[in-house]
Amino acid sequence: MRIRQFGDPTLRRPAEPVTEIDAEVRAICATMVEAMLRANGAGLAAPQIGISKRIIVLDVEGQFHVLINPELVLVEGETEELSEGCLSLPGVSAPVTRGSRATIAGTTLDGERIEITGEGLLARAIQHEMDHLNGHLFIDHLTPARRKSAVQEYKRKQKHEEA
Ligand code: ZN
Repeated sequence: MRIRQFGDPTLRRPAEPVTEIDAEVRAICATMVEAMLRANGAGLAAPQIGISKRIIVLDVEGQFHVLINPELVLVEGETEELSEGCLSLPGVSAPVTRGSRATIAGTTLDGERIEITGEGLLARAIQHEMDHLNGHLFIDHLTPARRKSAVQEYKRKQKHEEA
């Protein structure tokens, strides 16, 4: 299973809510966790494996979560500019400004409703993965000039990889 790359239309489509946690949803979650671990990622959203459903997985500093239908409850704290990357744009990173603390609510695979508040890297991963569910990528937060150079960098690396 290959992680969908920049340019794939699924990455730009707002994802649909999950209506029932059934065997199919469990299988999607298992695939996502596997893909995230294999890629050494801090998180992954279902559209990144080509599935337009509102599911994210997070693995940041020992905090591991699978969340169905997550909603961003609150972003607060100081805004921080930190270098960010994405498994759908491998090899590219750029500084993105985000709130330093974020809270999301969602449902676990056991059907339990939970809230997660994260700071630092977890806050960033939460906001980054929520963006994916709305069809947004981290480069959308950049100025047009920085976005253009990030895309060029990505294309250059892809070409290099193909060669
Ligand atoms: Zn991403």
